[in-house]
Amino acid sequence: TSFNTLGLAEPILKAILEAGYTTPTPIQTKVIPACKADQDVIGIAQTGTGKTASFVLPILNKIATAPMRPQSKCCRALIITPTRELAAQIADNIHTYSKFMQVRTAVVVGGTKPGPQIKACARGLDILVATPGRLLDHMSTNAIDLSATQIVIADEADQMMDMGFLPSVRRIMKALPSKRQTVLMSATMPDQIRSLAKDFMQKPTEISV
Ligand code: AMP
Repeated sequence: TSFNTLGLAEPILKAILEAGYTTPTPIQTKVIPACKADQDVIGIAQTGTGKTASFVLPILNKIATAPMRPQSKCCRALIITPTRELAAQIADNIHTYSKFMQVRTAVVVGGTKPGPQIKACARGLDILVATPGRLLDHMSTNAIDLSATQIVIADEADQMMDMGFLPSVRRIMKALPSKRQTVLMSATMPDQIRSLAKDFMQKPTEISV
């Protein structure tokens, strides 16, 4: 399989080419078509498999093919991740693959001043990358509004569980519209993650590599 056959928009293919990728990884070959078909997806994959691009590329494809002006404080796609470092890595990936597009992205994590994050969200976002605690803070002060979010990704769900974030993730999921796409990425599928998927996903396609 080549990236061309996955039906991604031209500016994304160009950025992938510049990144030096020639072939999609196994998780990308399976997750990208399922996400493009608007399915809920459970991806069971370790770090290093190319899992980040597997959920970032379909989000960018949606933005490229159906652009829209996000409302103030709203984000079209939300990526929840356990740590600041992972959030920064995901944002790096987004910047690499969206090099030839206009994408409004912000990162909302703890340990830094909330002011610039509030300003960034006020402009309206295509993609918000967030850790659960700081995201909930901004939701409680109405700096972020998830009522128009169409896609949510829970990345490294098992690590979020280990860090005690599952109650926060559940609160975030409850604030999202019921009509949305949900993607869950996890290296393992313990019972608590299974029940999270059962409570917040609709007929998920399970993909494991
Ligand atoms: P991840 O599993 O998302 O942490 O990605 C692991 C590494 O693989 C990252 O450094 C990516 O830049 C790289 N990568 C992702 N997709 C591909 C691909 N299709 N071909 C080559 N490298 C890739």
